[in-house]
Amino acid sequence: LNRRLAGFGTTIFAEMSALAVRTGSINLGQGFPDTDGPEAVREAAVRALREGRGNQYPPGPGVPELRTAVAEHHKRWYGLGVDPDTEVLVTAGATEAIAAALLALVEAGDEVIALEPYYDSYAACIAMAGGTRVPVTLRPDGDVFGLDLDELRAAVTDRTRLILLNTPHNPTGTVLTPAELTAIAELAVERDLLVVTDEVYEHLVFEGGHLPIASLPGMGERTLTIGSAGKTFSFTGWKVGWVTGTPDMVTAVRSAKQFLTYVSSGPFQYAVAEALALPDEYYTSLRDDLRAKRDLLASGLTAAGFEVFRPQGTYFITTDIRPLGHKDGLEFCRSLPERCGVVAVPNVVFYDHAEAGSPFVRFAFCKKTDVLDEAVSRLKRL
Ligand code: PMP
Ligand code: GLN
Repeated sequence: LNRRLAGFGTTIFAEMSALAVRTGSINLGQGFPDTDGPEAVREAAVRALREGRGNQYPPGPGVPELRTAVAEHHKRWYGLGVDPDTEVLVTAGATEAIAAALLALVEAGDEVIALEPYYDSYAACIAMAGGTRVPVTLRPDGDVFGLDLDELRAAVTDRTRLILLNTPHNPTGTVLTPAELTAIAELAVERDLLVVTDEVYEHLVFEGGHLPIASLPGMGERTLTIGSAGKTFSFTGWKVGWVTGTPDMVTAVRSAKQFLTYVSSGPFQYAVAEALALPDEYYTSLRDDLRAKRDLLASGLTAAGFEVFRPQGTYFITTDIRPLGHKDGLEFCRSLPERCGVVAVPNVVFYDHAEAGSPFVRFAFCKKTDVLDEAVSRLKRL
């Protein structure tokens, strides 16, 4: 393994899901739904397969049907005008979008600011691109994790190339407010920074709505927005994602993407195009269902003795284990399956400042109600 990747080892999601299988535990670690997405969308994939659409290499930027559907989605939900021919690129999930964006935009030695704790592939991809990550830590503020805008401003240097944002934020569930996004946008314009924004949980915002930073003044020309069908339609195995942005930025990402995967997911692209066109009720019922599950798991975890941070979005709850008499989240998560048959993820792996993340543990609630109930009753026996 080269020096850039040394230290990254196995992802925590693979480690914890393997532990869940080995111990027969309830897996609230890795974030994937235990119920597949809509039947009609699965049928659309089968139809595409049968009709021979996408069984051979699809077009490099993605099939026109999906690029058009992404553009229509951005218009419908955010009033954003996106040209499907030049401003959309289909990727192998958001994971490839993140990798290709960083490889395309970051020069060796550039600094990339990321909100800490950050999704684990950010650190590895910044490293692969030869960049230096500059974490800005979200800290407990009442029952949520908050961003200190002064700390963000102070993190910008002459070497800063871009800010890598994630809202709604995994693993804390924080949703940046319009005022925070406006301040970040002003900073980006003032210091002439690019923004790559991971908005895969855009439809999982429980109070208020999602505001894409690309829609703020001065941001259209400097923002690359990342989305994924995995989260919105509960098909994490399909690996269909996309980026939108200016033709220049999208072309740059495509240059990197063509040598990573070239193209991907032919038939699934057609199915996701149909999924994006589902009526508003689909999106609202997904959100309402997950809000109820959030409330169920949050009150269960509180009753089991955890301190719970209330997620404003995503399908994750971050907890503090100190009220239970523990302080090392990694050790806690490694022994939890044996102690009570539940798997969770230690947030510390998403931190550079290990001391800031040590006592936090994340639980996923994109699971059936009876599974969540059973997990809570096991955790109460801790
Ligand atoms: N970004 C965030 C914040 C995520 O939580 C995930 C995880 N699923 C991804 C990106 C990756 O998305 P995909 O499965 O579409 O590659
Ligand atoms: N995004 C999911 C999570 O945060 C997992 C994705 C993965 O396993 N790479 O749990």
